[in-house]
Amino acid sequence: MRSFIEHRDHILADLSPLPARRVPVAESLGLVLAEDVVARVDLPGFDNSAMDGYAVRSADLVGASADSPVVLPVDGDIAAGDTTRHSLAAGRVMRIMTGAPMPDGADAIVPVEASDGSAVTVSLMLAPEAGRHIRPRGEDVRLGTVVLRAGQRIGPGHLALAAAANVAEVSVHPRPRVAVYSTGNELQTVGSELAFGQIVDSNGAMLAALVRAADAELVTIGHLDDDPSAVRALLEPIPGSPDLLLTAGGVSMGAYDTVKEVLSEGGVDFVKVAMRPGMPQGSGRIGPARTPIITLPGNPVSSLVSFQVFVLPALRRLAGLDPLADGAFEGVAAVDWPSIPGRVDFTRVLVGPDGLRPSGGQGSHQLGALADATAVAVVPATDDHVVAGQVLTCLPLLGTLGA
Ligand code: AMP
Ligand code: MG
Repeated sequence: MRSFIEHRDHILADLSPLPARRVPVAESLGLVLAEDVVARVDLPGFDNSAMDGYAVRSADLVGASADSPVVLPVDGDIAAGDTTRHSLAAGRVMRIMTGAPMPDGADAIVPVEASDGSAVTVSLMLAPEAGRHIRPRGEDVRLGTVVLRAGQRIGPGHLALAAAANVAEVSVHPRPRVAVYSTGNELQTVGSELAFGQIVDSNGAMLAALVRAADAELVTIGHLDDDPSAVRALLEPIPGSPDLLLTAGGVSMGAYDTVKEVLSEGGVDFVKVAMRPGMPQGSGRIGPARTPIITLPGNPVSSLVSFQVFVLPALRRLAGLDPLADGAFEGVAAVDWPSIPGRVDFTRVLVGPDGLRPSGGQGSHQLGALADATAVAVVPATDDHVVAGQVLTCLPLLGTLGA
């Protein structure tokens, strides 16, 4: 049996970041930079006023105060967006707005609050030091400097910085495009009249949600019967040309475990992984496009845990991110709970102020308890139980408040 780390590394070793492409900066949110972003302008691009007020020569205002204001003529207005290069004569001021370019000769701003607000002859009630309330050119960012690094995922603030630096397009790895297929004759779409022996296909909905929560794109969602001729469709070109194919079910030891039966011949390695839930796993490449595939076990909890442990790192690798920097944290068990030695146990837990507690029934079919969990605690294979106070590595569950 493989350890989950060996299996994860085996999957990752076959994947590389998707080829980069250039996208308009406005469309780059959530994508990962393939190249550094270099500022094309200084920020600010010109000395400008940080306040609505008056551009002054500080030497003209020495000694000005509320008790003895200095009165000076106003030589017009400078609004934000004024592209004229103004020049301020000695003994004069200009009314200026926030973000407007400083006139040559002025070296300070007196805020409008320290004046009588006149547009003609203004009383100014303070003596600013040189440079007061001026945002100097290049203070924030210098033209030619790297403002964002390759490998960085673009958030709203990064996007704003690239745009302000006048970078219209960025080179990014595209979002991985994923196809999801559930398998099983017992599965019906949600809302169906269920005959005896039938159940709702919950994995399809869950895996689609996980794909989206992982910031990947769902291109196809389908269902296949437990019939070799149905499963052989996966060996044909897959609609939507996904970058990664996920299946759920049909990979254990049963007589109708058709995914395993058909895809063993088609390029997928089926292995046992020393973990609970989620022992039967498969991965490889299939079809004419040699599409990477991860075959998940069918039990919904096994599917979810396997997604967290194997699919999420795979998607991160394709997206250009560090596959393992997925927010793992250390938690402390609040209570004792049992664990089966010999396999790593991924206990679904609630993370509370006093520590970790199992979220309820831990059977791999028990969605009731899964729904509340916000993390999985990784219980080492050597442990036959967890003791209160024990420190455990935890993986935040994607799409929950824990992630
Ligand atoms: P399998 O690996 O196909 O034998 O499935 C294991 C268990 O998971 C069985 O009880 C299946 O009915 C159940 N199962 C498989 N696929 C799904 C699915 N898409 N939604 C809900 N339960 C499923
Ligand atoms: Mg099945």
